[in-house]
Amino acid sequence: MVMENSPASGGACFVVVGGGQAGAVAATTLRRLGFDGRLVLIGAERHLPYERPPLSKEVLVSPASAKTTLFSAADYAQQRIECRFGVAVTALDALARTVTLADGECIGFDKLLLATGAQARPYPLLDGLGEGVFAVRTLDDAEALRARLRAGVRLLVVGGGVIGLEVAASARGLGAEVCVIERGTRLMNRAAPLHLSQALLDLHLAHGVQVAFGAELTWAGRDEAGAIVLEAADGRRFEGDLVVYGIGVTLNDGLARQAGLAVDDGILTDAQGMTSVSGIYAAGDVARQRDPRTGRHQRQETWSNAQHQGEHVARAMLDGSSFAPDLPWYWTDQYGHNIQVAGEVEVDRWLTRGDAAGRRTQFGVRDGRIVGAITVDNGREMRPARQLVAAAAPLGDADALLDPTRDLRKLATALAATA
Ligand code: FAD
Ligand code: NDP
Repeated sequence: MVMENSPASGGACFVVVGGGQAGAVAATTLRRLGFDGRLVLIGAERHLPYERPPLSKEVLVSPASAKTTLFSAADYAQQRIECRFGVAVTALDALARTVTLADGECIGFDKLLLATGAQARPYPLLDGLGEGVFAVRTLDDAEALRARLRAGVRLLVVGGGVIGLEVAASARGLGAEVCVIERGTRLMNRAAPLHLSQALLDLHLAHGVQVAFGAELTWAGRDEAGAIVLEAADGRRFEGDLVVYGIGVTLNDGLARQAGLAVDDGILTDAQGMTSVSGIYAAGDVARQRDPRTGRHQRQETWSNAQHQGEHVARAMLDGSSFAPDLPWYWTDQYGHNIQVAGEVEVDRWLTRGDAAGRRTQFGVRDGRIVGAITVDNGREMRPARQLVAAAAPLGDADALLDPTRDLRKLATALAATA
């Protein structure tokens, strides 16, 4: 058995299921921290583990220079990480402590990490159309879409979430005609406050995107010429050559469920990232971790969370250490603008530092404390802004904070200390 509290665990076997950000980071972190036993990384996709953020951005706009791969094959070999890519784990036996792969291989483990992530939530109404319909979750998805995007093509984007908007912006950059079809009343409803939704709407309209709100699709088909036709409940019709939909994700939690692990909107984990079964851990999009500070579980679907949990769960697998979930933080790039959001988005009021219509940092304030932050084309201020949010710093001297000539790093350090 694995020697607890000892980084050098020669003789033990650790298995990581899921070759995404969380899985690849965890595997390499295990080695960096000194794990010396057998280490197997298994991923269902045929590619080396890669980062997803470029898929809706650079991979569509400038594929030749887009970099997605996390580590090279030589890196894994040099670190003695046994890779099984292009083959899924089909069964997990938590009692026998084995995983079985689609090709029949059975691997015993001392400790296991489930980093199986998520997949695009399917949209049967649209999938039924067949050719010309895309979700964007995998590199294969993005490359297939890229091959069809060109000037003048009519693209219907279903779902005004973060995928839909990034794809819309990228497609406009390539000269496509774009219509975003959203069933709700605002853009990026899940992850942006109202004023940011409005700013994004203005941005897309200014770039010539059509946006239809309140459009619940009820019918999808093709006209005589083969063009795609979508119909909304209120009779609106949308015609296009291609459809991309981004309507959220479905978690890859099947192995955990089948093995009897506790699952509730994510695989439940404790403050070490361990699931309800000792020695089995979860990280990334698929994990819902208990925050040791609040006792509440939270799940995040961000690059930053996958990176954070991948690193910290690896450490916890070795020494049993606890860690707090990462402060929620994501970015999006649209039309050359970089927008970052940290902390909470439902707040009492937003205060702006800088140019309200240009480069700016905004602070979300609730009960006199800073609990959220947004930067627009001002990423260099996100680190100190996150420091303030993490500390739930009291607003203090708002005039100083909102004066863009004052150094936010110094102000943040001073304010966070008073929290
Ligand atoms: P995943 O990336 O989903 O990886 C899980 C892997 O496990 C997959 O490769 C899957 O095939 C594999 N797997 C699943 N089941 C099995 C099995 N049974 N056996 C073997 N392998 C299995 N976040 C940001 O913060 N900023 C961004 O700008 C941003 N842009 C994004 C753009 C796109 C297009 C997408 C799709 C996501 C974006 N995200 C962004 C979100 C971020 O990429 C995800 O939160 C992150 O990839 C989650 O990593 P993960 O390792 O938990 O899961
Ligand atoms: P989101 O949850 O961000 O957005 C889904 C959108 O689709 C919402 O506007 C939702 O509206 C709408 N929607 C849901 N169901 C339907 C439906 N049946 N018909 C029409 N619209 C519908 O998910 P995405 O698909 O955009 O993103 C998927 C994943 O990728 C997430 O994990 C996300 O974090 C990640 N990602 C992150 C990025 C980033 O951080 N920059 C970039 C791209 C992806 P409603 O609110 O009404 O339900």
